[in-house]
Amino acid sequence: MSRVLLVNPWIEDFTAYDLWLRPLGLLHVGALLEAAGAGVTLLDCLAREVVGGPDRFHATGRFPSVRIPKPAPLAGTRRHYYRFGMGDIDFDARLAAMAEPDFVLLGSTMTYWYSGVFRAARRLRAAFPRARIVLGGVYAALCPEHAQRSGLFDDVVAAAEPMAAARAVAAITGLPVAALDSLRPAYHLYGHPLRHAAVLTGWGCPFHCTYCATPMMYDGLRRKAPGAVLDELRQTVAVTGAGHVAFYDDALLADRERHFLPILEGIARWRPPIRFHLPNAVHPRYIDRDTARLLQAAGFATIRLGFEGMGEAARARSSGKVDRGAAEAAVAALRAAGFTAREMGAYLLFGLPGLDPAELEVDIRYVHRLGIKIQLASFSPIPGTPDFERAREQDPAIGDEPLRHNKTLTMLRAGARYRDLQLLALSLNARLA
Ligand code: SF4
Repeated sequence: MSRVLLVNPWIEDFTAYDLWLRPLGLLHVGALLEAAGAGVTLLDCLAREVVGGPDRFHATGRFPSVRIPKPAPLAGTRRHYYRFGMGDIDFDARLAAMAEPDFVLLGSTMTYWYSGVFRAARRLRAAFPRARIVLGGVYAALCPEHAQRSGLFDDVVAAAEPMAAARAVAAITGLPVAALDSLRPAYHLYGHPLRHAAVLTGWGCPFHCTYCATPMMYDGLRRKAPGAVLDELRQTVAVTGAGHVAFYDDALLADRERHFLPILEGIARWRPPIRFHLPNAVHPRYIDRDTARLLQAAGFATIRLGFEGMGEAARARSSGKVDRGAAEAAVAALRAAGFTAREMGAYLLFGLPGLDPAELEVDIRYVHRLGIKIQLASFSPIPGTPDFERAREQDPAIGDEPLRHNKTLTMLRAGARYRDLQLLALSLNARLA
């Protein structure tokens, strides 16, 4: 039997926060490999149930961290830099206690987190010199040449969608990976209870925002069947004991009558003692009174709406996916269903190249007038997107150095302008009932 080790590596960044994060890509591929007959083990450097870190709201929380020197491309940045997650002694001890795997599948997410991935690859190579190390995930999909140039990986899988990634892994491992009727993450690989879990009901998005990689990484919108999602939820809760479950789809509510509403109806009938969360913004245009009522009946406690920017220029970059009419109708429906001001929030995107920050101040005040939380998100340039090219005009280094994609650099470059907007958002949020 082939032995496969899945590794979710450290995050190295200025900041990081566990907003119900789980390595869903790795867990889905792990399930496919198990079904193909492999013996699969998981090492998750970010599982706070193991590595520590106190809970804050709804089982989210800070990761344990150590301060580390800033990498050269970030030298001169006036912020401290950290490694988040499992301590080295623990990591090395866990590797020492394992039989050498035949294959190591190393996951990756943000492009500017690659240094944590590289560090894991070096330690894995030292511990398991005969294992084949395969890199997958978002960084691998967006920056495959950069990853290849490092010389740290035997293979780089540039497919993000789990079935496509699994097919690539099948070609590498020789395992007979086949499509499953019900593809679901292999949460049992943790082998211990989890305080929270994350779920994907599908991949892709029908919109084409100029700053987003999702339409490039996934071919259209692929969904699990609603009944399969409900089975997966029941199994996830039974296996993990999680009290909080977050949906991480990019377009959860698109085609909602056939997809998410049946899922919500199923959860509302089941009504487990779980709080559900939507940290990855949902589209306001799809929230009507029925949808809001079902979200409330199913036990959702966190609703984040994707506003991004409400001015003409910002809306054009965001596929025109939201306007004031849709925003106000969604908030009214959610409020009528019983959601409180603090349970609802709207993301606004700071730092899109070429946009006037004064527009954002107008949007911040608008969101506050709607009576919901302002969630400022900072722009990060993503290779292959139109806004990456605009950002490259301001910082040519982003073309060769993914560490320069870091969202914190967008804030720091804006200096007092960003701080003022952040303080404004914080002070307005504090006034919410
Ligand atoms: S709607 Fe969201 S997921 Fe879809 S392209 Fe725009 S930003 Fe990306």
